[in-house]
Amino acid sequence: SLSSPAVTLTPPPSLPQKPRWARMDSGPATTTAVPLGHKDKLVVIMGATGAGKSRLSIDLATHFPSCFEIINSDKMQVYKGLDITTNKIPVPDRLGVPHHLLGQFDPLDGELTPAEFRQLAGQAVSAITSRRKVPMLVGGSNSLIHALLVDRFEPGVDVFQDCAAISSELRYNCCFLWVDASLTVLADYLSKRVDEMLDSGMLEELAEFCEPEDDDLAIRTGLRKAIGVPEFSRFFKKYPPICESQKARPDDPVRRGAYKEAVRAIKDNTCQLAKTQIAKILRLRVAGGWDLQRLDATEAFRAVVTSEDDDGKRWSEIWQKQVVEASVKIVKRFLEQ
Ligand code: ATP
Repeated sequence: SLSSPAVTLTPPPSLPQKPRWARMDSGPATTTAVPLGHKDKLVVIMGATGAGKSRLSIDLATHFPSCFEIINSDKMQVYKGLDITTNKIPVPDRLGVPHHLLGQFDPLDGELTPAEFRQLAGQAVSAITSRRKVPMLVGGSNSLIHALLVDRFEPGVDVFQDCAAISSELRYNCCFLWVDASLTVLADYLSKRVDEMLDSGMLEELAEFCEPEDDDLAIRTGLRKAIGVPEFSRFFKKYPPICESQKARPDDPVRRGAYKEAVRAIKDNTCQLAKTQIAKILRLRVAGGWDLQRLDATEAFRAVVTSEDDDGKRWSEIWQKQVVEASVKIVKRFLEQ
């Protein structure tokens, strides 16, 4: 069901000086403080990779018909390509809800910086509010969420690394929903999800994308940083993709071992990403005082990882009750304010 066109990307030897999306008026880096009541409303769905942010965004958008348009804030999903590897929500699953900054940029144009994201997503917010709809920011890249939301943004400062203060002054009236789950349960789910992604064609997608000669982490930019690319580039270097399906190869135990090792590395790195993302979210909440409302999806994910769940029915019931209904209440109150 993925609308993934055949990915035939050949990254250039060097990146262009000025990416396409950077050729625009950069505008002021800061804005003047506006009282909360006059700020545009924005719903933000945060959470670690795999926590169900996209699913919740569609659940909410369908509960409040024609109310929301979604702006993606996953730094890998802004690019075209690697739809399976980066877990972009497939077009049929979007149920007609408009999405912005999702699969829009050519990775060959260079890396989209947080400052550029602030500007482009800011324009999307203005366009959506001018249509009398509410923007919903959805994605796990906390550096992008921070860049868009803070009143005063300093390009080049990594607020999560440099022990910089996190501002509580935001330029929109935000309702923050944080979808969270116990890390042990989430880790089991993420491992299962990687297996499902491989079943859906992740290896074939990466075979088209990766350059076997290039496994130098230092020169990776943009989409080439996506989890799956470095891990399988190393694999393809030893076992270059062949024209027919990888599965048609004779079963070589050494190759099978290298494949398993790549899959294990993807699972480990995905788990590590989830941990880092949760730490960043906590930092926004604690150091920045951002009013994040935590929704616990642990029981829902436990239902997915235990085998008793028949066709996801149990998962769906728990998700609906513990995550969707709780979010609907919060969002309803926010919209009525
Ligand atoms: P950082 O500043 O560390 O990049 P961030 O908050 O800006 O953090 P994250 O979303 O946490 O961004 O992404 C960090 C890294 O995790 C990316 O550079 C990439 O390697 C990996 N990553 C993030 N999202 C995805 C995704 N959708 N698919 C694959 N890999 C991803």
